[in-house]
Amino acid sequence: MGISHLNGDRAYRTVSNSTRAGNTRNLINAELVVSVSWLIKLRWIAGAGVLIVTVVIENIFHLGAPYTMLYGIGVSILLYNLYFYVSEQKASKSNRSEIYYQRLTIWQTVLDWIAMTLLFHYSGGIESPAIWYFIFHIIISAIFFPLNIAFTISILAILLVSGTTFLEYVGILTHQPLSGFLPQPLYQQPLYILGVLGFYSSTAVIVTFLVGSIQNHLRQRESEIIELTENLQRTTKRLQALNECAKIVGSTLELKQVLERMVETTAKAMEARACSIRMLDKSGRYLEPVAVYGLSQTYINKGPVDGLTNLLARETLSGKVVNIPNAPESPLLQYPEEARAEGIKSMLSAPLLGKNGPMGILRVYAVEPNRFNQEDEEFISAIAAQGSIAIENALAYQGIQELDKMKSQFIQMVTHELRSPVSVTRSLLRTITAGYAGDLNEQQRDILDRAVRRIEFLQKLVDDLLDLATGKAQPKLDERPVPTELIAVIRRVIARYQIPVKEKGITLEFLNKCQCEEIRVYATIEGLDRILNNLLSNAVKYTLKDGKVTISLERMDGEVHLAVQDTGIGIPEESLPKLFQEFYRAPNAKEIENEGTGLGLSIIKDIINRFGGRITVESKLGKGSTFNVFLPLEGVEKP
Ligand code: ADP
Repeated sequence: MGISHLNGDRAYRTVSNSTRAGNTRNLINAELVVSVSWLIKLRWIAGAGVLIVTVVIENIFHLGAPYTMLYGIGVSILLYNLYFYVSEQKASKSNRSEIYYQRLTIWQTVLDWIAMTLLFHYSGGIESPAIWYFIFHIIISAIFFPLNIAFTISILAILLVSGTTFLEYVGILTHQPLSGFLPQPLYQQPLYILGVLGFYSSTAVIVTFLVGSIQNHLRQRESEIIELTENLQRTTKRLQALNECAKIVGSTLELKQVLERMVETTAKAMEARACSIRMLDKSGRYLEPVAVYGLSQTYINKGPVDGLTNLLARETLSGKVVNIPNAPESPLLQYPEEARAEGIKSMLSAPLLGKNGPMGILRVYAVEPNRFNQEDEEFISAIAAQGSIAIENALAYQGIQELDKMKSQFIQMVTHELRSPVSVTRSLLRTITAGYAGDLNEQQRDILDRAVRRIEFLQKLVDDLLDLATGKAQPKLDERPVPTELIAVIRRVIARYQIPVKEKGITLEFLNKCQCEEIRVYATIEGLDRILNNLLSNAVKYTLKDGKVTISLERMDGEVHLAVQDTGIGIPEESLPKLFQEFYRAPNAKEIENEGTGLGLSIIKDIINRFGGRITVESKLGKGSTFNVFLPLEGVEKP
């Protein structure tokens, strides 16, 4: 699935160019929205300015001018600005579209140009100092509009000024001078007109060019920053998704959970409409949907996907990431009509590869055509690689669980079948050794005694195996832990060992550190008996003459600590981690005791776990061992 990073860069740039154009457009639109309210603020000043200047030239400089018209222009500016102000306030509350703002800006510009042309005409035309006010609007346009529109606007400004001047020059429009402002009328002096218009026009064009270029440059920079930020966000999102998938790999072994979390994470990280995983069925040929996010049931059930004949599946299963830019038209698709109906326009498929070949396909779906680029291909193959590990782990775990179940069932079946012949043989042998079948000579008795010992060991083995097998199955209702008195069970089990202990020459002691006659734990009587019996029998079995076995009982925070300590042979350090495994026996134990199944500890660990408790062991080779059992006390919330 090797995908080179250099190639990725090329694809990335293709996307970047279109993204950048989009960003610039968005920026211009965003500026338009801001420009509307900014222009309104400026216009209050402009309208008031026209009125103030008119008052000043009328009352202080006493110039002759069409004052009614000038006041009228000032008031009109303020009035139509009031209208724009109210509209803008309403629009910002109702979240109007960018088109609305564009229209608002165009109308403002049109009215402003009319007002400025009137102001220009009624304040002396080509002789008017107001001519330079056009430049403000040219600057504003160059800031807010793209360069081509800004140039159109500045040409319009030139045409309006030149047009008015021309009409006044030829007398179609009556010249409205500010009498007393200039020593002599200039509006009919061609040289003056040409000079002013020439400088005015070139200023307009140069200003537009300068402001527009600077603004363009700034916009480009801004859109680059936006694009970089977006890239960064996308990369972070994808890293998070990869991290999430890594967590999934480590957190659960449940196959269904693994797959479902994977499809959701992938779809969200790639901002895609949907994601699915299809796995090869047992025949290794058909792909079955096993986890789906964001697809309709109709699409999922569209029909069988044959890994041999379905071109897209075949190509992907061969180990390639397959990018379909226009799904409904692709010849690789087996169900193009269904994809069209589902609204899917592009697809990206990656193989899920296990140690023994392809296992399935991970696929993302998008509603836009040509949606996925090389960067996406790299990402999906990384996700698919991680997913494959998760799937393999989960499958292996599933296999182990099934095997374990099968093993338990097998043991249960075999031992059940063995139990009755073994027990019948044992009682038959006992009948003979007890002399009910006639007298035995010493040699016969000796042989039969050995046979009885062997058959008793066999009986224990069968019992242990049955316990182990049933323990793995779900506990039955009457085996559920209930508050059970522990001290009585301890005393009963100790009583059982009085004779073997004496015969072996060891001391057995019970230390009741909780100073109570009764203590209840969550357990069953049979379970407690089994636990204590096993620990005590081991302690006695693996402790040599003159040794000591101590059972102690202590009440702790919410639990009972039961310890069976001996001064016996101890357990080699390397054996400690394997001690609770089925059939495991430490080498030093095998040396001193031939008979032993290595099942006892594994069985009692299972029982203790079912009671919500735990078991630990501490031991020193040649010095002795301590087995610690912790069981939850009655009345304490069980874990
Ligand atoms: P078994 O006693 O039948 O071998 P268990 O499962 O009860 O089976 O014990 C497993 C192994 O743990 C024993 O074979 C022995 O090596 C070790 N073991 C258990 N209890 C003790 C003990 N008290 N002292 C030393 N070794 C022990």
